[in-house]
Amino acid sequence: MPIHFPFDNTYARLPERFYARLDPTPVTTPRLVQVNAGLSHLLGLDPEELASPEGVEVLSGNRVPEGAAPIALAYAGHQFGQFVPQLGDGRAILLGEVVGRDGLRRDIQLKGSGKTPFSRRGDGRAALGPVLREYIVSEAMAALGISTTRALAAVTTGEAVRRETALPGAVLTRIAASHIRVGTFQYFAARGDAEAVRLLADYAIARHYPEAAVAANPYYALLEAVAARQAELVARWLLIGFIHGVMNTDNTSIAGETIDYGPCAFMDAFDPAVVFSSIDSFGRYAYGNQPHIAHWNLARLAETLLPLLAEDEEQALALAQEALAGFGPRFRAAWLGGLRRKIGLATEREGDAALTQDLLHVMAENGADFTLTFRRLCDAAGLDGDSTLRPLFRDPGAYDAWAVGWRQRLAEEPGDPEVRQAAMRAVNPAFIPRNHLVEAALRAAIEREDFGPFEELLAVLSQPFEDRPGFERYAMPPQPEERVLQTFCGT
Ligand code: AMP
Ligand code: MG
Repeated sequence: MPIHFPFDNTYARLPERFYARLDPTPVTTPRLVQVNAGLSHLLGLDPEELASPEGVEVLSGNRVPEGAAPIALAYAGHQFGQFVPQLGDGRAILLGEVVGRDGLRRDIQLKGSGKTPFSRRGDGRAALGPVLREYIVSEAMAALGISTTRALAAVTTGEAVRRETALPGAVLTRIAASHIRVGTFQYFAARGDAEAVRLLADYAIARHYPEAAVAANPYYALLEAVAARQAELVARWLLIGFIHGVMNTDNTSIAGETIDYGPCAFMDAFDPAVVFSSIDSFGRYAYGNQPHIAHWNLARLAETLLPLLAEDEEQALALAQEALAGFGPRFRAAWLGGLRRKIGLATEREGDAALTQDLLHVMAENGADFTLTFRRLCDAAGLDGDSTLRPLFRDPGAYDAWAVGWRQRLAEEPGDPEVRQAAMRAVNPAFIPRNHLVEAALRAAIEREDFGPFEELLAVLSQPFEDRPGFERYAMPPQPEERVLQTFCGT
């Protein structure tokens, strides 16, 4: 019986200039690496069917399932500040959309599925390492409660891809609220195709921001809402120590999901200036610069919407500025609110911002591990003391000095220490995809075809807020010789 996907495709009904219609390019010997059972169920798919030989044919692009409308999407984008008028899905095919059991519509996309008219000089393929990295990190982000695209499956192709060396090829099945990017708007705006910008804006409103449709100025409401989601998203990244690495406008989702995991990384020792991406030589996308860049990307979106905001140019510009003015306050509220929860404060007091900033400062000065500091702070806020927390600071005395003010502030909080500790544990994860663990899992898969470490890491990261006896090493920072200093774009 052929495998059934409950497709209900809408993007493919937009005009032909929004995409190129083509099928994925078949591969020689597809083999399943992983199917995401939980996500399959959410999408109304049967994971066993997906894992069957016929399912693997679909996941590798060898068979186009009934009801699919395969397309490569057109988009442009600012890459590291430079505008590229045509990028597009150079190695991905959107198979179609399904409405999940939760009533939400999502894209099913194959990434690494062969050349398209947008491939430029690329081969249209993906290597196994980056596919597994995206699988691990996007699923970890989802488990951490951060808005993100997800991984439904990974398969190997049996074909080599040429990068600096020959590497095993793979295809990721990516699930996204949609694949509309800031760069999608830029693609049409740059061509002076005002009608397409309007169609796209109307589509984005209908799909992601239906409340904007009934606003006095729907396009203003769209811009404001996209900015709000980006502000929340970037605050969540910072609160968890995440660095996206390539915040180009083509990697900025209109739906507000984290998308396009390339040279992304989580921080170990806290340092706001940290950059991982080997291609980001100027620190444009450093940890602490991410709010600024998100705002910059939103300004590029605003530019494309100007003709829709008002007929009068000056008025349109004023409206765009007004819509984006909410970004800063929203970001700061989400960031400070999050930090407050991370240090165990349920109420608001005057000096809270200074108290949290002082902690971050002491952490940066003392090379303290970001994730572990906050996790062990949960113990210190309860009845467990801070004997395991202090050694995370090069000078534990610097922590002690900060903790005096913190304890005084905690004393003003209502509620008992155990409740506070539980609340803190629910926002301060024990497990993040630490770079050295991710690299080790990728190496085992690539060099030895051993997917055990990948699967174990996925399992640990699926419950990041639960302590797991026996898995303590997954919570630990790298030893000096294990430290990963750079991540590569891995295209
Ligand atoms: P990314 O850096 O992955 O966000 O990709 C930027 C652009 O390059 C997008 O248009 C991709 O489709 C394209 N691209 C990246 N890798 C490849 C590849 N191996 N073959 C073709 N196009 C690619
Ligand atoms: Mg991209």
